[in-house]
Amino acid sequence: MHKKLPTDDMVSTKGISLASKCSLCEEQAESVNHLFMGCTFAMMVWKMFLDCFEVSWPDIEDLPHLAQWWIKKCRVLVLKKPWSMGLVIVAENIWKEKNSRRYEGRSLSHVSVFEKIKRDFQDSKITISNKLPHISDLMCCQRLGLIINPKRPSETLEIFWCKPPSGWAKLNVNGSSMGNPGRAGAGGVIRNDLGVVIGSFLRVFLGFNQIM
Ligand SMILES: [Zn+2]
Repeated sequence: MHKKLPTDDMVSTKGISLASKCSLCEEQAESVNHLFMGCTFAMMVWKMFLDCFEVSWPDIEDLPHLAQWWIKKCRVLVLKKPWSMGLVIVAENIWKEKNSRRYEGRSLSHVSVFEKIKRDFQDSKITISNKLPHISDLMCCQRLGLIINPKRPSETLEIFWCKPPSGWAKLNVNGSSMGNPGRAGAGGVIRNDLGVVIGSFLRVFLGFNQIM
């Protein structure tokens, strides 16, 4: 992006002289560093994004250092993907807003530009794990309008009890233990070939190697 975008300062290096004024703040001449970093309007948009992550704007004045800081910050953040994408999406929307104001005469507030940024995130279909370790990460997703992957519902298994053959009885048993040694229990039900309960038992015991 640096030295590739046709900002006024870059155009003037091609020998084209022009009176430059930033279309976003209308306060200073337009340069790459001003447009994306020094501009009061751009700064408000960046801050809305950084606030989502509860990150403060760094004391940096040029784009290469901003990119380095962004990469470094990514290492300590949980939501790495949205953070990485944010550098491009926010810068792209600042650039589009500048062009819209200069060439189409249409302007949006910094809040509306941020709403567009949120829509870009939603359109990207970015997936967020439902295993977020901190409530602040969850809040960040809500502020950016990111959808967290819903937990996959556990599979439902339908179980039938089948009658034993005629003249037979069926014993169904189950048990569990809370550790070993630990509290444990077991129970069983005996039914005949008509499904009628003809006997049952329940046993709770401690330890292991005990035989009921
Ligand atoms: Zn400006």
